Amino acid sequence: MTTDSGDRLVPEEWQRGPRYGGAYTFARCPATRDLSRADVAIIGIPMDMAVLYRPGARFGPRAIRDASGQLRPHHWDEAMMEPPYDKLRVVDYGDLDVFPGYIEQTMEHLLEQLRPVVDAGVFPLVLGGDHSSTLPVLRALAAKHGTLSLVHFDAHPDYWEGPEGRPYHHGTPFRIAVDEGLIDPSASVQVGIRGSLSESLIEKSREAGFHLITADEFARQGVASTLEAIQRIVNLPVYVSLDIDSVDPAYAPGTGTPEVAGLTSREIVDLVRGLKGLPFVGIDVVEVAPAYDSGEITALLAANLVHEFLMLLRRGR
Ligand code: MN
Ligand code: MN
Repeated sequence: MTTDSGDRLVPEEWQRGPRYGGAYTFARCPATRDLSRADVAIIGIPMDMAVLYRPGARFGPRAIRDASGQLRPHHWDEAMMEPPYDKLRVVDYGDLDVFPGYIEQTMEHLLEQLRPVVDAGVFPLVLGGDHSSTLPVLRALAAKHGTLSLVHFDAHPDYWEGPEGRPYHHGTPFRIAVDEGLIDPSASVQVGIRGSLSESLIEKSREAGFHLITADEFARQGVASTLEAIQRIVNLPVYVSLDIDSVDPAYAPGTGTPEVAGLTSREIVDLVRGLKGLPFVGIDVVEVAPAYDSGEITALLAANLVHEFLMLLRRGR
């Protein structure tokens, strides 16, 4: 599956052997925890103990890796026909350990496992997991880079205030991140917010300083002006967190808390491509729950979005 050419490990030549065969790493990237020859580590966080509605995102990393077998190491965009792996050494780091049922200990343990990756200067590209899996990644990255800008695609602002003494669920990571100074809301953008949310929840996020673009506003203003807003507002090292429920359940049904009237797969691909040039320090794709998927379309979209992110990172080299 893996070709070793001295200073780098690269995916096996794509036409050799069936792409659906062998050990399932992301897009056949080498499975290794050797960080000395890696620029990007694909890291799974197989947890869903923090969901409020349908569970199943613990199987997200596995489903995305499965669907990534469809990816060839090329790109259809004419400006980016080079393979992502020629300038970018991408490894599949495997999944981190979690302790189902013990979220506080899991949050601590995830941070401990992420630190060596960040300390080695390797870029974490994380496959969730429910959205609480973003929090330890932000903690690890902010410890190195300082306060971050967040680019957040989601149907939900995930800025709930948890009950006293029980802060963790998948709707609270960005409240905690703001409280801990991990992200600066005034340098952050949220896109795709919708559904039967109380108005006060959206207002709270805006009062905190987030530039929040609801799905209705996005439908009116479109991709270009949304990207213009993102490029204008973010001015710190950038973390991108992409909750797959930002996309309409017609395109991405395999998720725990679907909300109708979201982004199309075309729009989310164009939004991701339009993030070019930002100073990324970490990226995640979360909330893929394959049990509710249909024809693997959600996992396939998620795998392609990871591919798009890799192309962005390659472009920056
Ligand atoms: Mn979310
Ligand atoms: Mn969501």
